[in-house]
Order: sequence, then structure tokens, then C-alpha cells
Amino acid sequence: MKKIPFNKPYLTGKETFYIEDAVNTGKISGNGKYTRLCQDFLKERYGFGKVLLTTSCTDALEMAALLIDIQPGDEVIIPSYTFVSTANAFVLRGAKIVFADSREDHPGIDENAIEALITARTKAVVPVHYAGVACDMDKIMSLANKYGLYVVEDAAQAIDGFYTGKDGEKKALGSIGHLAAFSFHETKNIISGEGGMLAINDPSLMDKAEIIWEKGTNRSAFFRGEVGKYNWISMGSSFLPSEIISAFLWAQLENLEDIQIRRHDLWDNYYSDLKQWAKANNIQLPSIPDFATNNAHMFYLICKDLEQRNRILDGLRSNKIMAVFHYLSLHKSPFYKMKHDGRHLKNSDRYTNCVVRLPFFYELENKTVSLITRRLFELIS
Ligand SMILES: *Cc1c(COP(=O)(O)O)cnc(C)c1O
Repeated sequence: MKKIPFNKPYLTGKETFYIEDAVNTGKISGNGKYTRLCQDFLKERYGFGKVLLTTSCTDALEMAALLIDIQPGDEVIIPSYTFVSTANAFVLRGAKIVFADSREDHPGIDENAIEALITARTKAVVPVHYAGVACDMDKIMSLANKYGLYVVEDAAQAIDGFYTGKDGEKKALGSIGHLAAFSFHETKNIISGEGGMLAINDPSLMDKAEIIWEKGTNRSAFFRGEVGKYNWISMGSSFLPSEIISAFLWAQLENLEDIQIRRHDLWDNYYSDLKQWAKANNIQLPSIPDFATNNAHMFYLICKDLEQRNRILDGLRSNKIMAVFHYLSLHKSPFYKMKHDGRHLKNSDRYTNCVVRLPFFYELENKTVSLITRRLFELIS
């Protein structure tokens, strides 16, 4: 049997065409035609305040930390069950990371665990929309208002995900916090190899964002003809992708709906195949709270224990099915465990031991999903 990979980057077919166009127009550095096409499309479609493409979500998070002026000793609350970049961005500015636990029913941050962690030094909360499923943003935004905190959404996995608040309004993930960081890494729904974007929803951060993006200069304003020469205005770095990356991304964005339809179909197939089996074997399938939508980013199982998880991972692998697990609680990481205050984060540790991600990509066929689920039935019954 042929190996079934965990991920396979999907190409819509127009990527190299647009890259060739970018190359032929002679403008291949950043902030050109394709960068603007992508930024305008995303801002329009999802109602973000302002969009700046970046070279990764990691970079967008680092930009966010610069933008909200994180200083040594500031505290930032993030879930322990997340990718390292969520924490690194703030650690690079000298922040102290305060880890929150995940929800019982979902790996997203437990909104009820946040308030007890807020101190006079807390500057920001970073909810991570795990699997593109919204955190409880009403609760998080109201805490932020009450205590004067910034909310930076780690929306790396959350493109085309939505949240419906108590006001009944359906809002795109990434349009709610002051800032939001997205990823276009090849493992995400919409890809450009490496790539990302920062959505800026707080109007007071918009000009500053553009300056930090362009090495601390007002070069963007200069190119719009708003200033006569460009100058060093603040600290900054180089966060913008080249037009070659943006051209690739544009081919993906043009096909966003098609990509999402295929991914939803796959997700629904996994779910309906596995529903009864999961219940019978104490395995949790992804749960979507009422306020959230599913963006079909990944399909995962939460096993009943580590032993069951290993049996599934090893069993699938011996059938050449590349399922994976991910995220080791950051509060127990070699780098940060000494700085953690010792609180036990039981859900984060449970997800560390029990999550399995199944192969999930556009070109995965429904019959391959059936094959994978049949193997699971054989392994655990
Ligand atoms: C993928 C991911 C990132 C990092 O994205 P890059 O574009 O690879 O930097 C950060 N946070 C989360 C939750 C992710 O899933």
C-alpha cells in the first residue's frame, strides 16, 4: 500500500502563472500589486480593520508584540497548549508568559481561567483559535475592557472561521481582537509555503503597524505620495513578503471557496464515519461550541489516555498512514518550566497526551478517508 501522508500542499494551478507575472512586471520586492490584491481581498471578505501580509504567522505575532509595546516584565496570558510562536513573540520582548489551561471540551483557552491570572502587570491576552474554532471572544473582550488589556488573536489556523457573539452578529475570527495573526504555512488551509498576515482592528495601531512592517520607516506613506521623503520613524523590522510569495498566495485566495468546500466534505466524512466508534471507545471527536463555526482546518481525536493514543499512532503508521500528535504543554517545556509558577494545567496535559491528528488535505480522497477509518475500527474496538 502507498503511504498516506499527513499533509500535502495543494496547488490550484495558477501559482506559477502569477509568480511569472510578478517576475515579468519587474517588481518582486514587497508591497506591490499582488500584496495589495491579497490584502484588499482579505480585508473586504472578513471585515478586518487593516491587513498587512507577513512572511509568517510567527512574524505577525512578533509584529503584534512590538506594536502593543511589550516591555520587560509585562505579563501575557496564553494557553499552554499551543505552538511555540505564540509565546516566543512576547518572550523576545522580555515578557513573562502566564499560562492558562484549555477548556474541558476543546483545546482552546478556558475563558473562565483567565481572570484569576490577571495582575497589574498583565498587558495582553492571546487566545488561540485551535483547529480554527473560536474561543469565547465575548468573555475575553469583556475582560480586556475591564482590565485595559490588548487581545491578540492567534488565528494561525482560523482563516474562514467565525464567531457569533451575544449580539447575534457573526464575525470573522481575527476581526474581533485588537490584533490577529494568521498563517499561510503549507500545513494550513490557504498556503504560500511560508507566509502570514497581521490583521489590525484597533485604529490607533494602524499607522504604527505599517511603519514597523517597513523597517521603522514611513516608506508606505511615501509610496502613496503622502510624504515627500521617507524617514526613520520608530523601531521596526522587515516583515513584508516578496511579491513572489504574494503572487502564490493570490492563486490560493482566488480558490478559497473551492478549497473550503473540499475540506468541509472531508471533515464531514471523517466525522460521520467515526461518530459511533468514538462514542463506544471513549474517544472525543472535535466539538464546536454554539458560538463557533468549523473551518475544516484539521480533524483530530482526543483519546481516552496516552496508551490508546500510542496504539492508534503506531497502528496507523504501521499501515503507512501518517497520523501525528502535536503540542507539548509549554508550561512543561525545557525552556519555560522553571519560569512557570507550578500551577497544574490538567486539560493542557490531557491534550498533550491524547490528541491525534488524522491526515487532512485537499487531495485526500473520500475513499482514503474510509480506508483510514476502517483501520481505526480494526485498531480500537
Ligand atoms: C501554524 C501556527 C503558528 C505559526 O505559523 P507560521 O506561519 O508557521 O509562523 C502559530 N500559531 C499556531 C496556533 C499555529 O498553528
